[in-house]
Amino acid sequence: MAMVARPASKADLSQLSITQLKGVGDQFAQKLYKLGIVTIQDLLFHLPLRYIDRTRITPISAIIPNTPVVIEGEIRTNQVMHGKRYSLLCRIQDASGAIAIRFFHFSNAQKQALAPGTRIRCFGEARRGSSGLELYHPEYRRIDPQQPMPLEATLTPIYPTSEGLTQHRWRSLMAQAIKFLKRGALQELLPNDILRDLNQVTLETALDYLHHPPPAAKLDVLKDGNHPFQQRLAFEELLAHQLSLLKLRHQIQQKNGARLNYIPELENLFLGNLQFSLTAAQQRVYAEIKDDLSQAFPMLRLVQGDVGSGKTVVAALTALQAVANKKQAAIMAPTEILSEQHYLNFSAWCEPLGISVGWLTSKVKGKKRNTVLSEIENGSTQIVIGTHSLLQNDVNFCDLALVIIDEQHRFGVHQRLALRTKGKQGDSYPHQLIMTATPIPRTLAMSAYADLDCSIIDELPPGRKPVATIAVGNEKRPQIIERVKHACTAGKQAYWVCTLIEESEALQCQAAEATAEELKVALPTVNIGLIHGRMKAKEKTAVMECFKAAKLDLLVATTVIEVGVDVPNASLMIIENPERLGLAQLHQLRGRVGRGAIESFCALLYNPPLSQQSRERLNVMRETNDGFIIAEKDLELRGPGEVLGTRQTGEMVFRIANLQRNATLLPQTKKAAQILLKHYPQLVDPIITRWLSHNAQYAHV
Ligand code: ADP
Ligand code: MG
Repeated sequence: MAMVARPASKADLSQLSITQLKGVGDQFAQKLYKLGIVTIQDLLFHLPLRYIDRTRITPISAIIPNTPVVIEGEIRTNQVMHGKRYSLLCRIQDASGAIAIRFFHFSNAQKQALAPGTRIRCFGEARRGSSGLELYHPEYRRIDPQQPMPLEATLTPIYPTSEGLTQHRWRSLMAQAIKFLKRGALQELLPNDILRDLNQVTLETALDYLHHPPPAAKLDVLKDGNHPFQQRLAFEELLAHQLSLLKLRHQIQQKNGARLNYIPELENLFLGNLQFSLTAAQQRVYAEIKDDLSQAFPMLRLVQGDVGSGKTVVAALTALQAVANKKQAAIMAPTEILSEQHYLNFSAWCEPLGISVGWLTSKVKGKKRNTVLSEIENGSTQIVIGTHSLLQNDVNFCDLALVIIDEQHRFGVHQRLALRTKGKQGDSYPHQLIMTATPIPRTLAMSAYADLDCSIIDELPPGRKPVATIAVGNEKRPQIIERVKHACTAGKQAYWVCTLIEESEALQCQAAEATAEELKVALPTVNIGLIHGRMKAKEKTAVMECFKAAKLDLLVATTVIEVGVDVPNASLMIIENPERLGLAQLHQLRGRVGRGAIESFCALLYNPPLSQQSRERLNVMRETNDGFIIAEKDLELRGPGEVLGTRQTGEMVFRIANLQRNATLLPQTKKAAQILLKHYPQLVDPIITRWLSHNAQYAHV
């Protein structure tokens, strides 16, 4: 966010600083900057949260509980009550009936002013009280019957606010801003053929209306954000996001990519050595990728596939095509553990084919690191696997033609774009394959990944059985421990996952340590291992190896095992505090079991009592193993933040639009974006700047 007011120019509200408004001094302006409001245009985009109706007087007999109303009448009685709490109670009468108003805090002067015979107008919400319906602490004004007081001419907006900014202040600012608006100082950026589909609603009309809707406006429609004028604004904002991503895509596709000709030899050897054959879905997606690789411009493809659908093999086949064309491929994974697992898998698959695979994470240091770096640089390493340490400045690829990002939902948009530029050589960009196991509902994918083509692996390898899932309260912990013992004694392997709020990794590790101790005492015959994020890389590797080799029966872990970990013999998982995790995360975790042919179980060990929402969420986990259904439910229950992951939505800040509420607009914005790019390229940047100038990473490659 720019903290410096932009230079004032009379013509355009996007250039006019809020300090141009009366009553906005430096100190006040600072407060507004904190809310992202720098210009008068920004101010106008600060829309009311809700509205209240003070345009009409409601007869007392027509009052509905818990609904704001204006009433007017004469005070009949005025009494100080000495019940449980000391209060002032007045009865007010109008032609239709009577109601009580009650104040728990009042002064003597107030009591005197509310003497019987006084006419007052009150604004408030009626609730059930000891004398029937009552208005508690209403706003009120005394009325002089000789001088009737006018009612509000429009609905009264309530603005989102921060400390020290009263509603009164907001309204007076907006009144000034609207005057500027009415002078036509806000440029309409949507061309006519797009406005036509929006019922010709201009930005000016929409803003003017939403800051003070007429009495007849439908409050319920406004409340849900479904009013056509609200949609007009959300539309333009979503359009700006689409345009920025499409512009990136367009810029990249103007560049050269390393054309990778399809060379089948390595692929044939690889498939011949594989223990299984590809599913139809894997074959289809790989064919789509091969097609992209043979183009002269860079591939930009997202592969979605549920947990366990077999994305790694597809990644490996893709990497082989780069190697077959004598180029390098890089694979970036979000965690050390996953990157290592990929390293081991890729090495096992590729080294028999004479291909050299390298591994780089922040834990690779000193001499070893220098060796790895120089082998990447001189090209002797053909496939490089790593974490985001691949993005560091000292990593120089020799001839990088392909970048694969695994479990993309764990990275930000930022890092995705960074690796895109990393392999840039002159005017040529590497092909990109992005893989994610978080199934993203279509509408969300359209906006968050508008710059990518999408392939879906919509089939699991044969023989997989759904993971039978139960939810049990912590009071049944002893039985669950018994069950673990049973499974381990029978030669099965299990995970025990300790979860805490994500910010506190330290606490999570402590919890895991404590649980491991507890279980060692309770299960002396079971071989128990521990893995968490604070252990050294070597220690983690050793533990994972032991677990893989079945030297450990039970692995107590934090959520470090959430992504990618693949030990097919593990068939039981206990997840503690599942109520604290998002559904997508639970699904990822649970995806660590059910990878082999044996029947698998998952116990969600919650801390009672559960809220209604938590109960519903755990039920979803019990009822389905389908990642897409789970993602849709997550979206419904917790909003897009959970589904895309906080990191991504944190960067996708919308002022007005809401991906969930406005999902139906997305196909329309997509179409509008195409029209603009094709016929009105000069409008693209102004629209992006209007909405995203505070969100700089979208603005350039
Ligand atoms: P994810 O899509 O979650 O990354 P993985 O690539 O880790 O899934 O694959 C999960 C497991 O399924 C691995 O053990 C992998 O070897 C196995 N697998 C992948 N494809 C197939 C297939 N076509 N048939 C049988 N097993 C497969
Ligand atoms: Mg994977």
